[in-house]
Amino acid sequence: MDKRIRLRFAPSPTGPLHMGGIRTALYAYLFAKKNNGDFILRIEDTDQNRFVPGAEEYIIESLKWCGILPNEGVGFGDGKHAPYRQSERKQLYKKYAEQLVTSGHAYYAFDAADDLDAARKKAEASGGAFLYSAATRNSLKNSLSLSKEEAEEKISSGENYVIRLKTPENEEIKFTDIIRGEVSFHSSIIDDKVLLKSDGMPTYHLAHIVDDFLMEITHAVRGEEWLPSAPAHILIYRYLGLESIMPQYAHLPLLLKPEGNGKLSKRDGDRLGFPVFPLEWKDPATGEISSGYREKGYFPDAFVNMLAFLGWNPGTEQEIFSMDELIQQFSFEHIHKAGARFDPEKTKWFNQQYLHKKGDAELALEFKNQEPRVKSQDLGFVIKVCGLVKEKASFVSDFWELSSYLFIAPVEYDLDLLRKKWNDNSGKFFETLLGNFKQLSGFSRTEIDQNIKQTAAQLGIKPGEVMQQLRVLVSGKGSGVDLLGMIELLGCKEVCERVEKGLSKVSKISV
Ligand code: GLU
Repeated sequence: MDKRIRLRFAPSPTGPLHMGGIRTALYAYLFAKKNNGDFILRIEDTDQNRFVPGAEEYIIESLKWCGILPNEGVGFGDGKHAPYRQSERKQLYKKYAEQLVTSGHAYYAFDAADDLDAARKKAEASGGAFLYSAATRNSLKNSLSLSKEEAEEKISSGENYVIRLKTPENEEIKFTDIIRGEVSFHSSIIDDKVLLKSDGMPTYHLAHIVDDFLMEITHAVRGEEWLPSAPAHILIYRYLGLESIMPQYAHLPLLLKPEGNGKLSKRDGDRLGFPVFPLEWKDPATGEISSGYREKGYFPDAFVNMLAFLGWNPGTEQEIFSMDELIQQFSFEHIHKAGARFDPEKTKWFNQQYLHKKGDAELALEFKNQEPRVKSQDLGFVIKVCGLVKEKASFVSDFWELSSYLFIAPVEYDLDLLRKKWNDNSGKFFETLLGNFKQLSGFSRTEIDQNIKQTAAQLGIKPGEVMQQLRVLVSGKGSGVDLLGMIELLGCKEVCERVEKGLSKVSKISV
């Protein structure tokens, strides 16, 4: 029987989740769901110094908002591998680090921070970079450079120590990445990574391996920034005797700035005015607020659709995908290796497409919710306003600006526009039109349209000559939502009142 597909999203609660993190979660989720597998949320909180209060809750809320729902994990219910917070699994890791020491693949290191700093400075002074590795470890303070007795004495006297991986001196380390194919690293560039820290906590390097193994993870999807550490991870699996069952790694391409080179950062967002986080975040230390897609009025499905395309494409022209469609279509083969450039305009475009597809009633509820001036308006009326206005908007928050004249009769009229085309026939036309409107038994779009045309014909004018004036008289402005739709929605009485009021202003126009 094939192994059950299991993927995890394993963020560290060090602050708000960058949209790159959500993309990692999304791809892992899509692959898991496509294969009827499991998607797990594991919180990697072994670095106590970087722990930020509220970050874990933020991660959970972001995943919920996006509809990327783990079936096991912190905040989503325990499966058989609980707990899913690494700090609560502390006692599990040491045994693996010790096993590596016993098999000669790891060692105790006693170097004080100052000594390591000094070694780093010395290397930099001679133009190099310090690497704790096969080349340097003998000149440092560890159980390989010290005698067995000295090392044992230090440990038994309670001196601080870490456990480091003993990287081989001259080996080529290869593995197959799902996205990049075969990757190869020479061991001389890999450092002797710390596996277990002096506080007894594992580092990411050890902890994710132990957890991926214990949680039966089959595919580990993570950001490209982890690629340089991957050979050390392969060695750890190998030395633990787990290489044959290790998960397949997929290192995702970076998200790049909209322009220029480099990784998309919060600073780019601040500079160019777009969020880089799914939800708004208030820094608990500084009180600084960072904007979020949710609060900016993005729909979660539009945000997810946009994210899916940052690094992946379906290989067809289709761009709008529901989550179910993404699950059906997703494959690692269609993820590219090169960085994915973030495009804020395209992001808006996605939201606009979703807005246009949304039902008027759903939009109306959201509009009422967001805009106090609309809250007490009749729902049926607001639904129709949404139907008229959505084609012109990218966000529900644009609606008021685009439709306020449907709720409030104009006080000001664009008199310049009226003046431009006003002639002797104009006043006559509108008076006749109002008279004709008032005779109508129904006030549907078709009736209104026919009536305008008939009135124009009656007076020998082309309808095109008066349409814009009619718009200004009804709405005060020269452009806006569909004219006939607007007249139909406002109804005969309101339209006639508005036009009459407008005409009284026109009489003051000197033509
Ligand atoms: N805790 C790591 C991070 O936040 C996870 C990397 C991984 O998915 O293995 O980057």
